[in-house]
Amino acid sequence: MATSSDHNLSNGSVPDLASLGAKYEDEKNKRLRPDGNSQYLDLELEAPPHLARLVEDPWVDHDALNAQEPSIRDGDDVKFLILGAGFCGLSYAARLIENGFKAEDIRLVDTLGGWGGTWYANRYPGLMCDSESYIYLPLLEETGYMPKNRYAYGEEIRLHAERIASHYNLADKGVFRTFMKSFTWDDEAKRWIVELVQSRGPKEQTLHMTVRGQFVVLANGVLNHPKTPKIENLEAYKGAMIHTARWRYDITGGSQADPKLTGLEGKKVGFIGTGATGVQCITALAKSAGHLYVFQRTPASVDERGQRETDPEEWAKISAEPGWWTKRNANFFDNIHGSSPDGNLVNDSWTTIKSYSVLVGQPDGHPVTMEGIPAHIGAAMVRDAPRTERLRKRVEDTVTKDKDTSENLKPWYPSWCKRPCFHDEYLPSFNRENVTLVQTPPSTGVQKATSKGLVVDGKEYELDVLVFGTGYRSPAADMSEPSKMCNTTIRGRDGMLLSDKWLAEGPTTMHASLTKGFPNLFLTGPAQAGASPCITFLFDIMARHAAELIAAATKRNADPDTVTLEATKEGEDEWVGSIVSRAAWFAPVSVCLPSYLNNEGSTMRDGDVGKTIKGAAYPLGMNLFSKALSDWRAEGKFQGVVIG
Ligand code: NDP
Repeated sequence: MATSSDHNLSNGSVPDLASLGAKYEDEKNKRLRPDGNSQYLDLELEAPPHLARLVEDPWVDHDALNAQEPSIRDGDDVKFLILGAGFCGLSYAARLIENGFKAEDIRLVDTLGGWGGTWYANRYPGLMCDSESYIYLPLLEETGYMPKNRYAYGEEIRLHAERIASHYNLADKGVFRTFMKSFTWDDEAKRWIVELVQSRGPKEQTLHMTVRGQFVVLANGVLNHPKTPKIENLEAYKGAMIHTARWRYDITGGSQADPKLTGLEGKKVGFIGTGATGVQCITALAKSAGHLYVFQRTPASVDERGQRETDPEEWAKISAEPGWWTKRNANFFDNIHGSSPDGNLVNDSWTTIKSYSVLVGQPDGHPVTMEGIPAHIGAAMVRDAPRTERLRKRVEDTVTKDKDTSENLKPWYPSWCKRPCFHDEYLPSFNRENVTLVQTPPSTGVQKATSKGLVVDGKEYELDVLVFGTGYRSPAADMSEPSKMCNTTIRGRDGMLLSDKWLAEGPTTMHASLTKGFPNLFLTGPAQAGASPCITFLFDIMARHAAELIAAATKRNADPDTVTLEATKEGEDEWVGSIVSRAAWFAPVSVCLPSYLNNEGSTMRDGDVGKTIKGAAYPLGMNLFSKALSDWRAEGKFQGVVIG
């Protein structure tokens, strides 16, 4: 990737803005491709036979689940049907229970075999959470749990999901390995009619059920449909393959608790992808593989981590005041936006990224006019340049084995363009004798396989095991249309498809939560919601909002079994207006190279830009998003919502 013209940008000083802008533009243009998202295979929807195994659930225990008393039966009528048994779904369930609803009236339905959502699915070696565990792990106050480390590892996070389920008496309210195939609103009955398809393993037949739900929550998460690049001739490859989203310890040896991957001793392992997943997994594989080939298209930006064990004395102080979790999260955002009178409580590398607000909004960001966009982008680049230069220097100082490797690991894009990574061992891995960085052409990446391995620039790399750390379907695809994000079909009043409404009008919600024509259906973003690198705070804000709203509506209605909530057109217009009027704040995203964040570069290129802009995040940042919702509830008028 490095060229001789880059030299004056690599001399350690902060480059001038014009050179930097030109370099960023050049790196972006090298990667933009006309096929956008279709360069990938969406493994759940279109995996050919040789890749189907990559998305099978390796953890599901069908025998144990089949032996349990069913948590749902054909014909059941359930008050709350929550799609998703991860932290989002659990946050909704918890807040509903705190608002007076009963655990027995809640079911959390998930295609996976247990609690935890992405933390159930992802168990790759090296897995951890890159946000501080004290703000990332939800319901810490309520469960009284002290995370073991400042940054929690994968297994601890998954077990925390199980802890929440037990704490709220939900342990037997999960409906696992079950796909919610369709939702149809029955206005007479005031119920969603939901078709469920439950896989029961190889020994039993698939179960088809139809159930009714008064309220439905789509707690589907944002990055959960694994993808791989389309690689020519991959069907001929004879070695083992793994996607990081479904790790196969039967191939690698070790376990989530045991990082020794004995099955990789002496083996040649290939890893495609250097995103947030790659940074963690590559570091772990480097310690076990005979030889690790890292196939990189775009390098990650990697800042320091600063992992440490939780000190119980410090924890006692952190968790002393009721409401501390919300306050700490709010403080984290204040510091991303600038500063807080309470100082910087989290005080980690995230809060040093002073340009990150162009991705997550800014409370005091005055509306950016069309004419003001270039200056706004320039100002963001100026704020960001010292950081990115420091990170390139960090690469240079750390990766000393080979000059080309060091140059190729330098990130040339602003901090907001790809998820910033934090790791203290990733870069040093490239000094190991058993690790080789293979820089693939930025315009294509890995393109071709043979029966023995991969081919890059005409050179064949023989591999025993090939790992895809190539990420997930972009949540921005189809303007984040909610039914598409769940692979389901949703028909509201008069048979209207949610996908038709969304694609015709563009994203249209009130509070990112309700949408007219779809009563009692609760959405969870990302369109028109607060944006966050630490998404559990958003889940909690939205869960409290929904739970308090449903509780208040239920009190007003003589018959709680038929209460309905639906956004009005005026309610939607006002909320959408508050998004669109300030959406130019996010214009700096236009300088970014392609990734899932900008729908592989097609966000502003294809389709109707006016509609796409409607799907922006709440532009004033998470804390004002939270305030907008709580102020509206406190007013008690429910303006913009019809309660039936
Ligand atoms: P990403 O989409 O971020 O990364 C995919 C990687 O695959 C990129 O490096 C991409 O390159 C590369 N790639 C794709 N196709 C090819 C190809 N043909 N040849 C070579 N390389 C290719 O997925 P991740 O799973 O890494 O991360 C997704 C998100 O999940 C993160 O951004 C984060 O939000 C979340 N996550 C969070 C963690 C946490 O700690 N909280 C940990 C891990 C993930 P290119 O960049 O050029 O497209």
